[in-house]
Amino acid sequence: MYDVIVIGAGAAGMMAAATAARNGKQVLLMEKMEKAGRKIRISGKGRCNLTNARPPEEFKEAIRVNADFFEVAFAEFNNKATIRFFERNGVKLEIERGQRVFPKSGKAWDIANALMEYCLDNGVEIVYNTRVTGILTMNDKVYGVTYVNKRGFERKEEAENVIIATGGVSYPGTGSTGDGYIFANDLGHTIEEVRPSLTPLRTSHPQKKYLDGLLLKNVNAKLYIDNELAREEFGEISFSDRGIEGAVALRVSRDAVDALIEEKKVKLVIDMKPALTEEILFERIKREIAEMQPDEFFSELLRKLVPKNFVIPIAHELDIHSKNYIRKVTDEEIYRLIKVLKGMVFPITDYAPFPFAVVTAGGVNCEEVNKFTMESLKVKGLYFAGEVLDLDANTGGYNLQIAFSTGHLAGLLKK
Ligand SMILES: Cc1cc2nc3c(=O)[nH]c(=O)nc-3n(C[C@H](O)[C@H](O)[C@H](O)COP(=O)(O)OP(=O)(O)OC[C@H]3O[C@@H](n4cnc5c(N)ncnc54)[C@H](O)[C@@H]3O)c2cc1C
Repeated sequence: MYDVIVIGAGAAGMMAAATAARNGKQVLLMEKMEKAGRKIRISGKGRCNLTNARPPEEFKEAIRVNADFFEVAFAEFNNKATIRFFERNGVKLEIERGQRVFPKSGKAWDIANALMEYCLDNGVEIVYNTRVTGILTMNDKVYGVTYVNKRGFERKEEAENVIIATGGVSYPGTGSTGDGYIFANDLGHTIEEVRPSLTPLRTSHPQKKYLDGLLLKNVNAKLYIDNELAREEFGEISFSDRGIEGAVALRVSRDAVDALIEEKKVKLVIDMKPALTEEILFERIKREIAEMQPDEFFSELLRKLVPKNFVIPIAHELDIHSKNYIRKVTDEEIYRLIKVLKGMVFPITDYAPFPFAVVTAGGVNCEEVNKFTMESLKVKGLYFAGEVLDLDANTGGYNLQIAFSTGHLAGLLKK
C-alpha cells in the first residue's frame, strides 16, 4: 500500500512525486510511456523555457484563465523557487529576452533528467510502460488505481491518495492523450471544453502558398474578432504548412480559436513596419525609388522593403504587376503599398489541431478543486496537477511553471 500514486511522469507529476517522497511518503509514479518527461524534452524547441522571471503581478497577466486559482500554488512555489530548485539540482540557468529562463546548456533534457534524478534520490518508485486505466474509490474516497502493465495484464495497486498529472491532449505522441479528463469525469468532475491553444492559425489568404518558410521579425499583429480589436502583440511571425505561427501568432491563437469555435469572423492584421509612420515610410520609399534605375522593376523596390517570399503576394494584393517599371509607379500606388505594409490582412478561417498545439485550453474545472491543496472537492484523496486542470498561459515559460507550482502543492498532500 502506497501513501500516494502519481499518474504521469511529466513536469507536474515528477514535481508532485518528489515533493511527497521528500516529505517521507511512499510514492509510486506510474508512466505509460517508456521514459519520463517526453514533453519537457521537446519543449522550447529542445531548449526548454522552464519558467519566466517576471514579477508576480506580470506573471499573473500571462495566465489566461483561473489566474486567482493558480495564485495560491504560485505563492507556495513560484518562479524564483523553480530557478533555485534547478540550480540546486545542478542545472545552470540563464535569463533571455522577455525574462524567459532556459538551461545554460541549451538542452531541455537537462531539465527532464534533473527532475527524474530528484525523484529517484528522494525514493520515488517509478514504473514505465504502465498505463493507468481507472481510479478506485469507495464512499467518495480514493483507495487506488487499475492499470495495464508492460506485459499487457490488467492489475490494481492500492494507495491512500492519487494525484492525476496526465497532462492535456496536445502533442499526444508525448503520452498526453486526455486520460485524466476521463478519470475525473467518471468521478463526477466537470471538464471545461478542451481546445487547442498556442496553435498555428490557418488563413484563406489567396497568396498563402508563396509564404511557406517565411519569417518576419519585429512585426506588430492585431487580432480582430467580428471587426473589433481583440489582441495586439509584437514580435515574430512565421509561415509554414502548419499555418501562421511564431510567438505572436501563437499568443493570439487562444482568442482566435475560441472565436472560430463560436463561428465569429477572425482576421490577423500584420504591420511589417511598426517603427515607421506612414509619412516616414512614404519618404523612405521615395528615396529608394530615386536611387533606383528607371528601368528597374517594381519587384526590386519590394525586395528592398520586405523578404523575398512577400514580393509576389504584395504585388498581387496591390494589383500591380511585379515587372512594372519603377519609373511608372505613382504616388497613389505608393500610398496603397504603405497601407499593405502597415496592415496586411490575413483572414483566419481555421486552426491547427491538438497534435500541433503547444497546450490544451480547458480541462478539470478549477471550482471543483481546493486551490489551497489541489485536492478534489468531490473525492477525498484525489489531487490534480498540471495541464489536466483548466489552466493555461501564454508562451514564455508560464505553462511549465503552472505544472511545477501545482505539482509541488499537490505533492504536499495537504488535507
Ligand atoms: C512542443 C511543445 C513545446 C513546449 N514548450 C514549452 C516551453 O518552452 N515552456 C513552457 O512553459 N511550456 C512549454 N510547453 C508546454 C508544457 O510543456 C506543458 O504545459 C507541460 O509539460 C505540462 O506538464 P504536465 O506534467 O501537466 O503534462 P505532460 O508533460 O503532458 O505529462 C503528462 C504525463 O502523463 C502521462 N500519462 C498520461 N496518461 C497516462 C496514463 N493513463 N497512465 C500513465 N501515464 C499517463 C504521459 O505519458 C505524460 O508523461 C510546450 C509544449 C509543447 C507540446
